[in-house]
Amino acid sequence: GTISRHFSSTVINMAPISKETDFLVIGGGSGGLGAARAAASRYGAKAMVIEGKRLGGTCVNVGCVPKKVTFNAAFIAETIHQAKAYGFNVQETAPFDWPTFKTKRDAYIKRLNGIYERNLANDKVEYIHGWAKLLSKNSVEVTLDDGSKEVVNAKKILIAVGGNPHVPPEIPGSELGINSDGFFDIDKLPKKVALVGAGYIAVEFAGMFNALGVETHLFIRYDTFLRSFDPMIQEKVTAEYERLGIHVHKRSLTNKVEKDEKTGKLRLHYNSSKGEGSNGEGVLEDVDHLIWAIGRTPAIDGLGLEAAGVKTTEKGHIVVDEYQNTNVENVYALGDVTGHVELTPVAIAAGRKLAARLFGPEQFRTSKLDYDNIPSVVFSHPEVGSIGLTEPQAVEKYGAENLKIYKTNFTAMYYAMMEPEEKAPTSYKLICAGPEEKVVGLHIMGLGSGEMLQGFGVAVKMGATKADFDSCVAIHPTSAEELVTLR
Ligand code: FAD
Ligand code: NDP
Repeated sequence: GTISRHFSSTVINMAPISKETDFLVIGGGSGGLGAARAAASRYGAKAMVIEGKRLGGTCVNVGCVPKKVTFNAAFIAETIHQAKAYGFNVQETAPFDWPTFKTKRDAYIKRLNGIYERNLANDKVEYIHGWAKLLSKNSVEVTLDDGSKEVVNAKKILIAVGGNPHVPPEIPGSELGINSDGFFDIDKLPKKVALVGAGYIAVEFAGMFNALGVETHLFIRYDTFLRSFDPMIQEKVTAEYERLGIHVHKRSLTNKVEKDEKTGKLRLHYNSSKGEGSNGEGVLEDVDHLIWAIGRTPAIDGLGLEAAGVKTTEKGHIVVDEYQNTNVENVYALGDVTGHVELTPVAIAAGRKLAARLFGPEQFRTSKLDYDNIPSVVFSHPEVGSIGLTEPQAVEKYGAENLKIYKTNFTAMYYAMMEPEEKAPTSYKLICAGPEEKVVGLHIMGLGSGEMLQGFGVAVKMGATKADFDSCVAIHPTSAEELVTLR
């Protein structure tokens, strides 16, 4: 049959879909596109991408990109406020026009979808809009937009289906809340929001809401959030969020969600083992949005993994080796569905390495992504950057006696003109191992950390020592210079 393919906003009927391909990629997100485009454009493979939703996947549509645009809006809100300290006569009476902002943000994402589609065409990757299901280790059934089904046989198959936000089914009323996808559908500035979770998403969203003037409640299970980060980051950012006026409900578990039929707002019942209220039970009323941000679940439902014999972990992540091989020959998986490091550049890099190994010249036969020393940034308030080992991990690996830790806390010069309550903290930590003081961990928090980390990441990846850091002359006046002058 014929199939419909989307070109920007037009739908055109095109030639029949190929029945055979060299490289069939399920999922047109970061990893799938990275792999398919490299296979076709660099190594001339016949490649096909099947995507059920929108090209670009999570990152482009409901992740990194619209998140960062929203973070920028929050940053501007803070800057407008801070401008007064520099002598600007700014009026803060006009509220943030969320609907206008959202319309423009949505339009930007739509433009990106079109660009991604043209990139696939330029690279000669066949793009099919539909849902894929494995029939065997080398054949896939695609359900097209009109409901018809096609079968494609492939020499090699890559599974890059990503994941979906997890909502806890065991909590009564949990479906009244939304998740990170729903965050991007919010069409007016809320008055009061509640977030449950303690990872990247909960912390980034809470910081943005607060900066945009929304009463923000964050429910966490322990005393700090970002618990996979160095203790310095956990403690300082949690304390800073409390200082900024975010209601951080520590050691608190949500146990029921209800909707007030009169107001349409939500009521959150929770239990706080800190026992602040009587017997620790608490209620939060008048919540416009409750957002679950407690991690993601691999998108393997209906994918036919059993038919192909592909193994998963208990949580449903596809089991792969360091080369992205699954247990089934010629079937590969990468990105969020493998549950390793859930970041866009990781999925893209793994995809390109795999394409090189499978379709590139001989010298790439052992090509694979090195999962060590991957830098990452949390777009919190202030930003956090981290690469390498946390201090507890370094102690475990090298022993405390073989480590030298350098730390500094200071106030960035940007805040010099401001009142004490407007000054955000900056904290840096370098973890150095062995007599040569190799930098094995670098953790930064403060204004500009997001942009700073990439360059320091190169140094750490190259195996830089403390002496290498110190041999680079400082750039003054910056915050970053503190990292090359630590004592
Ligand atoms: P995805 O990008 O999720 O792509 C998978 C695609 O497969 C989807 O488009 C899906 O529709 C499609 N699909 C699934 N099943 C099928 C099927 N059966 N048939 C056809 N198609 C199918 N990472 C960063 O590096 N920086 C950030 O700032 C950042 N911010 C984030 C913010 C949020 C709110 C979220 C949720 C994530 C963020 N991430 C960020 C993480 C990043 O988005 C993911 O790590 C990345 O998108 C993973 O890429 P992937 O290719 O594995 O999967
Ligand atoms: P994460 O896995 O980062 O964090 C979820 C956290 O929520 C857990 O670590 C846990 O923390 C807490 N949690 C888990 N279950 C529950 C529960 N039942 N009730 C309350 N809290 C719970 O997931 P996210 O959803 O934040 O993000 C998914 C991934 O997307 C991230 O890991 C990251 O890789 C990626 N991402 C990257 C970004 C970036 O690069 N800037 C931005 C956003 C996402 P605890 O144990 O402390 O309770």
